[in-house]
Amino acid sequence: MSSRAAVEKKLFTIRYRADRGSHITLADPARCMSCERPCLLFCPAAVYQWEDDHMRIAYENCLECGTCRIACPSGNVVWRYPTGGTGIAYKRG
Ligand code: SF4
Ligand code: SF4
Repeated sequence: MSSRAAVEKKLFTIRYRADRGSHITLADPARCMSCERPCLLFCPAAVYQWEDDHMRIAYENCLECGTCRIACPSGNVVWRYPTGGTGIAYKRG
């Protein structure tokens, strides 16, 4: 089993309650055009999805691990915690 498949299996143990708006935005979406887009690999929940000429952010799936805040090479990610009562919840504690 690939590591990506193993992560996807574990995602079934997580419950999400989506915030009304995204808790993740990009400071400058144009910066993603000239980036090698490591976020497509380092985000464990595939929140970052490149679509033709822009980045789509599936914020509803965010695990709140904080990796993208640190690992985006140009500091392009603007991240805050979801509003209280929304976001991730773990089914098994
Ligand atoms: S790593 Fe950062 S700058 Fe690069 S594509 Fe992803 S969000 Fe955009
Ligand atoms: S905080 Fe973690 S799970 Fe959420 S978008 Fe960033 S890297 Fe992905």
